[in-house]
Amino acid sequence: MRAFIYSALPVRVIFGRGTVSQVADEVRRLGLNRALVLSTPPQADQAGKLSTELGQLSAGVFTHATMHTPVDITEQALQVTQQRNVDCLIALGGGSTTGLSKALALRTDLPQIAVPTTYAGSEATPILGQLERGQKTTLRDLKVLPEVIIYDIDLTLTLPAALSVTSGINAIAHAAEALYSSDANPVTTQLALNGFSALVGALPKIICDPTDGEARSEALYGAWACGTCLGSVGMALHHKLCHVLGGSFDLPHAETHTVLLPHVVAYNQLAAPAAAQRIADALGAADAANGLISLVRQLGAPTALRDIGMPE
Ligand code: NAD
Repeated sequence: MRAFIYSALPVRVIFGRGTVSQVADEVRRLGLNRALVLSTPPQADQAGKLSTELGQLSAGVFTHATMHTPVDITEQALQVTQQRNVDCLIALGGGSTTGLSKALALRTDLPQIAVPTTYAGSEATPILGQLERGQKTTLRDLKVLPEVIIYDIDLTLTLPAALSVTSGINAIAHAAEALYSSDANPVTTQLALNGFSALVGALPKIICDPTDGEARSEALYGAWACGTCLGSVGMALHHKLCHVLGGSFDLPHAETHTVLLPHVVAYNQLAAPAAAQRIADALGAADAANGLISLVRQLGAPTALRDIGMPE
């Protein structure tokens, strides 16, 4: 065993089915009573339902979360938190909603309860990317790490199959880069392999039946494991390329990860042969990059940047 450093992140994780019903208990446990429920516009109904269920504990909803966390939306939401005397944030949705919650927490230090509905993994990280004047910048700060994550498998059943696949490959990308991270350690390596395998097993089943509860459970567990790796060790070439392309050309986040990952792994596999071998083994393939491109094709996901809106 080589020398290593591992820093565990302080977050409470609740995982199961129907767990969204525990949000109120968690708000009370934190000693709070004015929660603002955040979502994207398509998930406004879900946010409204949760707000209603919270009753007296809710300070209402803000449903304008947007991909890449544009600062002007954060500023609108900030005004709402101040006007309504909000003391707690609840992010119901994918990485875009979690991003808005984190951006608000950075500015206010409000406690956050994340209820993730995709596999992006942002809820498990102290990382925030923000978009201002066409430039995306990223920071790491424990202030933005949610205090509580409530994973509810039932909420993921409606995630469309195509987005489930690309979001799942977004999570797989966290695991892949954690394996060759400069601060990789035995804890994150095991979690990465665990999460990687869970997603590789679950995604083909979700394509066949998006309501397959067992497969959804595996995938959401994988998302937690991969997201925890993303939050714990530094990422590399793949994440930086996705970040620059996504922020500069407003490309969809999960799809950008899906297109780039096989190419970045191909580029890196000679330099990181042990990690590449582990990726290949997890895919049951002879070669990591070819195994990944086969997986992407098998799942019917995009393989070219031009197909997801990248201008020539
Ligand atoms: P997203 O949050 O934008 O969600 C994509 C779409 O799917 C949205 O329209 C959303 O409303 C819808 N959706 C989400 N869950 C659904 C469900 N269960 N059923 C039906 N529809 C659902 O996409 P994403 O890929 O989760 O997040 C991308 C964003 O997250 C990017 O801005 C990215 O930079 C950020 N991100 C940040 C980190 C981090 O650690 N800071 C990590 C990963 C991603």
